[in-house]
Amino acid sequence: MAMAALPLNIDCCFYDGTENTPASQLAHVEVGAFDDHESLIEWAQGLDVITYDWENVPVDALRALKSVAPIYPKPNALKVAQDRLFEKNLFTTLNIPTPGYSAVNSYTDLLKAIAHHGLPGILKTRRFGYDGKGQFRIKNSHDIETAWQKLKGQPLIFESWVNFEMEVSLIAVRSKKGECAFYPLVHNEHHEGILALSRAPYLHPKLERQAHRYLTTLMTELNYVGVLTVEFFVLKGKLIANEMAPRVHNSGHWTIEGAETSQFENHIRAICGLPLGSTEARGYSGMINLIGQLPKPAAVLALEGAHYHDYAKDDVRPGRKMGHITITATSIKQREQRIKAALKTLKPSHPPSKRQS
Ligand code: AMP
Repeated sequence: MAMAALPLNIDCCFYDGTENTPASQLAHVEVGAFDDHESLIEWAQGLDVITYDWENVPVDALRALKSVAPIYPKPNALKVAQDRLFEKNLFTTLNIPTPGYSAVNSYTDLLKAIAHHGLPGILKTRRFGYDGKGQFRIKNSHDIETAWQKLKGQPLIFESWVNFEMEVSLIAVRSKKGECAFYPLVHNEHHEGILALSRAPYLHPKLERQAHRYLTTLMTELNYVGVLTVEFFVLKGKLIANEMAPRVHNSGHWTIEGAETSQFENHIRAICGLPLGSTEARGYSGMINLIGQLPKPAAVLALEGAHYHDYAKDDVRPGRKMGHITITATSIKQREQRIKAALKTLKPSHPPSKRQS
């Protein structure tokens, strides 16, 4: 976001719980605790607008800042997105299909949920789960006890397993005036619960229309300002909402090179009250996440249509998103060839890419 704000002559400053965050390469990062409201308020003095790109910012921290500067997206959107139960309740209220679910606070609740929804299913923590963490797939009755032992002690949710054909996401942006713009639908491949590869545009007008309707409803309901992402499962030509993210999203990183205006710039434009930019795709893009490894930059940069992004995180850990490669192309065929070539620069731990028509 700081990189997108720079040409607009908008200065950014950051607040984070840890040192050496990627943003520190570009702007001042105040390091402090999110429950230290005094230091948060001091940091925020003089700011025109506040936003966030991390779901686990405590809602109370945002509320403490409310009197200092406007905050977008509003804390109510974050509150919903932080809790899988609130999120699914909102989807249900707005008639947005979502997997069958029940809140689980005890072992008896879990057994009741399984009796009601059946198996297979998935037990998830309501809060703080990401990239497949905080969840356990229950394939049959033998897994029930293990899942419970692994996740008990925190509020949980049981969900029906969706035997989806594929996963897609829609990234939308809403301005202060209530104008909405939508990026093309993105096709996502996950590996062990982590986004591995995105392709855009995923050309499916019927699904795209459904997704536009659902995001418009959500953004209107939340009086939303900024970028909002919803991840969907596709089953029998219909969308089933998995989760929403009140922020710029990993499945939208391709927009930096692959769209007329990146998701980051449009988020900045929206929260600053500026006109939104075109969300149109420039050709065909792919986005390969660099998970737990970084290839040699020269190997990637030698490839046609490949753009290298190293987040300069302090250490490489398995399962950690270290950067990404965007592939740009003028046809689907060319994109697939370029994705294949880029995947060759990675160690074999990266999942093989399926061909998308
Ligand atoms: P989540 O953290 O909820 O986005 O889950 C990470 C990934 O796990 C999803 O992108 C899916 O690939 C898979 N997953 C999560 N929930 C379900 C479900 N109810 N049915 C099938 N797959 C799921």
